[in-house]
Amino acid sequence: SKVLVSGANGFIAVWLVRLLLEKGFIVRGTVRSEEKAKFLKNLFKGHGDKFETVIVSDITADGAFDEAVKGMDAIEHTASPFHFHADDPQELIIPAVKGTTGILESALKHGQSVKRIVITSSTASIVRVTTSPTTFSENDWNEPAIKEVEEKGRNASNPAKYRASKTLAEKAAWDFYTKNKSQVPWDLVVLNPPYVFGPSIQDVSTPSALGTSAADWYETVVTGSRDPEAGGGGSKAGSEWVDVRDLAEAHIRALQREEAANERIIISAGPFKYQEWMDVANSLNPSPIPSHPSLQKGNPGSTDKVYLSRYDASKSGRVLGMVSGPEGESLGLTGEKIRYRTKEE
Ligand code: NDP
Repeated sequence: SKVLVSGANGFIAVWLVRLLLEKGFIVRGTVRSEEKAKFLKNLFKGHGDKFETVIVSDITADGAFDEAVKGMDAIEHTASPFHFHADDPQELIIPAVKGTTGILESALKHGQSVKRIVITSSTASIVRVTTSPTTFSENDWNEPAIKEVEEKGRNASNPAKYRASKTLAEKAAWDFYTKNKSQVPWDLVVLNPPYVFGPSIQDVSTPSALGTSAADWYETVVTGSRDPEAGGGGSKAGSEWVDVRDLAEAHIRALQREEAANERIIISAGPFKYQEWMDVANSLNPSPIPSHPSLQKGNPGSTDKVYLSRYDASKSGRVLGMVSGPEGESLGLTGEKIRYRTKEE
C-alpha cells in the first residue's frame, strides 16, 4: 500500500520512511526543495521506484498537498517547525496549523483512496508547566501554552511558543475531522511523543544541522555547551523520551491497527534526566562516541529520580502493543535492551 509522508527529510520522518520501505510499503515523501529530495533519493536508492519525492515548497499555501495525496492509501503528516528561536509565535503556529489543516483539506478533496491519516503531534500539546510531579495522559490538553502566547505574544517563552503551535495544530486536526468525518473515507490517529532521541540518519554533516531534540542531547551530554540542570530534561525538571526507531514503528502500527482509529496516543519509553544519560555514557568503555572520548560528567549519580512531567503511556500498549522495559531499563546509549519494545519482540 502507498503512504504519503510529509516532511520526509526530518529526523523522525527519515526513520519512518526507512521502516515503511523495509516493510514493503510504497512511499511518497514531501520535501521543500530539490536538494532535500536528492539526499533522500540517494539514501533510499536501493528501494528503486518504491520511493518517490514530491516538492511542496510552502505547506501553508492553499492546496499545497492536492497533488501529493492523490492515489495514496494513507498519510503520515510529520512536517511542522520544531525549534525554540521564533520571535513571533506565528512563525511556528501558522505552518503547524495550516500545514495540518491543509493536508487534511487536500485529503478531503483528492484523497478518495486514503483510509487513514496519522499526525505527529507531541506531548507538547498535553503537558502543562508544573512544580510538583504530575502524570499526564491523553485527557490533558496544554491550554496554558495557548493562553500564554495569546497574552504575551512575542514575549511568551520559547517552549510556550512551540507548545502552542503543536496544541493548536492538533486541535485543528480533530476539529477538521469532527466536522468532515461523514464525508471522508479515512479516519485519524494522532501520536504524542515526548523528547525523541536516537541516531540521526537524515542529512546531518555538522552538529549544527542536528534536529532540536538531538542537538539538546548532543550539547548536554557530549559538548557541555548546554546546562544539564536546565530545561525539560534538566536535573531540576526531568522529562520523558522515546527512541526515534520505536516512534517510527509506532507510526506504522498506527496505520495498521484498526483500534487506533480516532485515538490520540502518547508514545513514550519512560523518564529521563540528562544526568542519567551522562552517567550511562561515562560508564561505557570504550566511549559510545569515539570522536568524543571524554563525555560530560555533570554531577555523577546526583539525580534524585524525581521527574516533574511523567506520561501515562498505557494506551500505546493496549492499542499499538508498545511496551517499555522495567524501571531503569529504558535508559542507555546502545543495544536493543534500552528500546521501547514491542510485544512481538
Ligand atoms: P525536524 O526539524 O528534523 O523535521 C521537521 C520537518 O518538518 C522537516 O521536514 C522540515 O522541513 C519540516 N518543516 C519544518 N518547518 C516547516 C515549514 N515551515 N514548512 C514546511 N515544512 C517544514 O524535526 P523532527 O523530526 O524532530 O520533528 C518531526 C515532527 O515530530 C514535528 O511535527 C515535531 O513537532 C514532532 N515532534 C518532535 C519531537 C522531537 O523530540 N524531535 C518530539 C515530539 C514531537 P525542512 O527540513 O525543509 O525545514
